[in-house]
Amino acid sequence: MPTYVRTEKCDGCKGQDKTACMYICPHDLMLLDKDGSLTGHPMKAFNQEPEQCWECYSCVKICPQNAIEVRHYADVVPMGAQVQPLRGSDSIMWTIRFRNGTLKRFKFPIRTTAEGSANPYGGKPEANLAEIDDPTVLFTKDLHKGDTSQFLHSK
Ligand code: SF4
Ligand code: SF4
Repeated sequence: MPTYVRTEKCDGCKGQDKTACMYICPHDLMLLDKDGSLTGHPMKAFNQEPEQCWECYSCVKICPQNAIEVRHYADVVPMGAQVQPLRGSDSIMWTIRFRNGTLKRFKFPIRTTAEGSANPYGGKPEANLAEIDDPTVLFTKDLHKGDTSQFLHSK
């Protein structure tokens, strides 16, 4: 089921031009109703096209007020249960609230290295943006010469 916003929790990201949920949604579905003309709830965000929602949980995880919820599928939790993530710097806490009021919490680590220590290039050269429009220049252009030692996980 698509996302919905708990209006009593949403603070409109304090009136910034682009709210956290608008920034993160890969499908541009979340919208802040600044003057309330669209929903009757000024300064509250809402999902403007629920049938297009991928239920990817990105907005649920980023919302600083924990105001966005999704009813999860029945193969994950029983119908009608709420599944709410709370992301920290090294772990994520999932809170499951069943329809009968039962509450369960699961905490998982989300990384094994220190925050900020990831090396996105892994020793490879950084991208040359001057070549970005040249279809003959690929990141892997020098890797296909039979020298498997160039691959990160070669034996
Ligand atoms: S991220 Fe959360 S608090 Fe901010 S506008 Fe969206 S629903 Fe409201
Ligand atoms: S769950 Fe994903 S697709 Fe749906 S509104 Fe949130 S960010 Fe957008």
